[in-house]
Amino acid sequence: MSNDRNTNTFWKNVATGVGVAAAGAALAYLVSELFTEEASRAEERADERRRRSLQGEKSPELRKVIIDKLNSGTYDCNICLEEISRNDEIVSCKKCYTINHLRCIKSHCESSGGSGRSPHCPSCRKSIDYELQYYCFCGSNFNPMPIEGVTPHCCLSRCTNRNCRLQCHPGPCAERYREN
Ligand SMILES: [Zn+2]
Ligand SMILES: [Zn+2]
Ligand SMILES: [Zn+2]
Ligand SMILES: [Zn+2]
Repeated sequence: MSNDRNTNTFWKNVATGVGVAAAGAALAYLVSELFTEEASRAEERADERRRRSLQGEKSPELRKVIIDKLNSGTYDCNICLEEISRNDEIVSCKKCYTINHLRCIKSHCESSGGSGRSPHCPSCRKSIDYELQYYCFCGSNFNPMPIEGVTPHCCLSRCTNRNCRLQCHPGPCAERYREN
């Protein structure tokens, strides 16, 4: 009888031991799963960063396209669909770099501001939280005069973004990505 009880206790202990071991294994498995998940998340984040920096590499292209179009007089305002000339007052979206006539953006803001929403860029739809005044692209010169041989609406100063190595320019700065 007592032998049986001992045997029972023995098996109970074994069972408990197995249970604890199993639970331990399960826990270890869970922990390792969590680590794997964390690692894959970190990898996703790294992928996202890579993807973004690749997108960023397109920015020199965007800048070149804008400069070429401004210089050849083929940049059209996407509000009035008319050309943006050297003598027009313009405003450039600080977020998507789209250039519009100052008068067109002003009337766009007046017509869209009535709904109580803050005016947004007609191109990227982000809110317009910058001054609607005519400045050169770097913002150093108010109502800049056209300069012979210089891209329209640019001045001769260095870009005011300290990390950018360009002279006053439309489009994105050349800061994070190296160009050829
Ligand atoms: Zn226009
Ligand atoms: Zn925009
Ligand atoms: Zn400037
Ligand atoms: Zn710049």
